[in-house]
Amino acid sequence: MTPRLSQNPSYSKLLGEIRAGNVESLILVPTRREVIVRFLNGSRFTVPILPNDQQILRFAESSGTPLTVKDLRGEQAIASMTGNIGIFVIFVVGLTILIKRSIKIANRTINFGNSQPRLKASEDLQISFDDVAGITEAKDELLEVVTFLKEPTRLIKLGAKIPKGILLVGPPGTGKTLLAKAIAGEAGVPFFSLAASEFVELFVGVGASRVRDLFSRAKQSAPCIIFIDEIDAIGRQRGAGIGGGNDEREQTLNQLLTEMDGFTENSGVILLAATNRPDVLDVALMRPGRFDRRIEVALPDKEARTAILGVHARTKPLSEDVSLNEIALMTPGFSGADLQNLLNESAIFAARDNIKPIGKKQIEAALERLTMGISKPPLQDNAKKRLIAYHEIGHALVAINTPLADKVEKVTILPNSGGVSGYTRFTPNEENIDSGLYSKAYLYSRLMVALGGRAAEILVFGKNEVTQGASSDLQDVSMIAREMVTTFGFSKLGPISFTESNNEVFLGNTLINKKLNLAESTISQIDHEVRKLANKALNMAIELLSSRREQMDNLVEALIQEETISYKRVIELISISDNNNKIL
Ligand code: ADP
Ligand code: MG
Ligand code: ZN
Repeated sequence: MTPRLSQNPSYSKLLGEIRAGNVESLILVPTRREVIVRFLNGSRFTVPILPNDQQILRFAESSGTPLTVKDLRGEQAIASMTGNIGIFVIFVVGLTILIKRSIKIANRTINFGNSQPRLKASEDLQISFDDVAGITEAKDELLEVVTFLKEPTRLIKLGAKIPKGILLVGPPGTGKTLLAKAIAGEAGVPFFSLAASEFVELFVGVGASRVRDLFSRAKQSAPCIIFIDEIDAIGRQRGAGIGGGNDEREQTLNQLLTEMDGFTENSGVILLAATNRPDVLDVALMRPGRFDRRIEVALPDKEARTAILGVHARTKPLSEDVSLNEIALMTPGFSGADLQNLLNESAIFAARDNIKPIGKKQIEAALERLTMGISKPPLQDNAKKRLIAYHEIGHALVAINTPLADKVEKVTILPNSGGVSGYTRFTPNEENIDSGLYSKAYLYSRLMVALGGRAAEILVFGKNEVTQGASSDLQDVSMIAREMVTTFGFSKLGPISFTESNNEVFLGNTLINKKLNLAESTISQIDHEVRKLANKALNMAIELLSSRREQMDNLVEALIQEETISYKRVIELISISDNNNKIL
């Protein structure tokens, strides 16, 4: 009789059952230290056994119960192998994901080079020359480019030589970017624009590849415009950086130069670039065939400001009591962007006051907010304005009355791109540029012109009122005078060069830290001669101006009124003063 077992039998009970012959079979699992018991009635139990159990073997043997031994090591091996395979699979999958991700990143890197330039279909560019006001000279110069882009073949047949690279130079917010877009808009050609800072990326080589890609895409869609904004970000003087400079930027710049040299003339691609730091640009960028055309975009004078306000007032209705002229009068030194901002702010004030057309009150409030924090805009300070005006007219008047001096192009009391308030611009004497020869008389005239500003200040405000505003003039003076003495032999010291080699020493690239074995006495002699030259030039400039005091005063009045006066206007004003003199 098989006892009905409802629970696991104990070890001793199991042995008894085996002996009694109630057990059908035994499966011994030594690794688990258990035995699986199958009774005759079909029930199954698992019973723990002793390690290395001999007893159960003997009992089974003596009672003739079949016993099998199950070795689990194989199974375990398989089980652990399965575990290993699992880890392996996870590893492989993980690695694949990693590789895929890094490929994606790498692709993105490559794509930086490919897809960054924003290609704008010309339809999207609805900016035309009408949207650009006040900078008429720049617009006129660029009109030719528009004509070329519209009908390239016609102009090429006529033998026209179109510049490859045009550099727009001017203070921030004067409309350089706007102007570039307007050209594309007018001509209806694609416009590729990229800020130079976008070229220079974390990854070395990306900038160069972007440049390459930009040009190849542009060439495919010629005629078109490539516009590189803020080119100074890559175009800085190479190798000037102390401590190695920036390799990535240099590579990018080199690539740009290569591309510019690479495209043939009249390929239909016109390269425009803008900067407000022309002084830091690498000279290689300005070589013939590269950015050889330079267009100045100056801060707007009163008339130009009125025109710019007019453009922006088209979308912002102004009330009757507002006169654009009056706003222009109140905003000397404002750029186009500043003026636009002024009208925006006024519109916000008007909305807040719930007034429909923008009124005078809102504009005044906006003006106050915009100039808040600025102690007083220099150009609203009349005394300072007058001083700047005298200084600049001093330069101009000396130049006009000195034979061989560079020709005055314009005089302005508006700040230039470097933030210097007031400047006089000259057209360099072409004969000198062509021959590369500078006569003693020419260099001397440069000294006088450079000192003209200081001379006027001394004459009008007295020696004690002289400002530091002329400090950059004085740097020019000492540089020119020193070179006259040491390099060109234009002094009492005779025709001896005191510099090491005289290649390209002229006008300021070098002369820094040239270690020469000069005797102490020679050095002091040089200093003496330099000072003598400068003093003589200053006295001559003062003399020249004092005999033209009336002309000078009239020019200053006109300059304060008009903010910028051209050469033509200067000559006109001089002849008016002279005629008045004759009548008196
Ligand atoms: P820049 O590139 O010289 O720094 P922007 O072209 O970016 O200046 O000018 C910024 C904004 O100022 C323009 O979008 C435009 O609204 C306004 N602006 C600047 N100059 C002019 C201008 N001469 N005529 C009309 N709007 C101008
Ligand atoms: Mg810009
Ligand atoms: Zn000066």
